[in-house]
Amino acid sequence: MADDKKTGASLKKFGRGANECQMCGRKQGLVRRHNIMLCRQCFRDNAAKIGFKKMN
Ligand SMILES: [Zn+2]
Repeated sequence: MADDKKTGASLKKFGRGANECQMCGRKQGLVRRHNIMLCRQCFRDNAAKIGFKKMN
């Protein structure tokens, strides 16, 4: 597994093998449901837009 060092330049890598939020690039708290991969924060923020509804 290659570790990408952040050397100032923002390297955005979307697609296969990229286990990171597709919105902010965060790798923690990822929510993978259906075909989206977002962190919890972005997921909650975009859930309504994407079509997910809160289940209260
Ligand atoms: Zn995010």
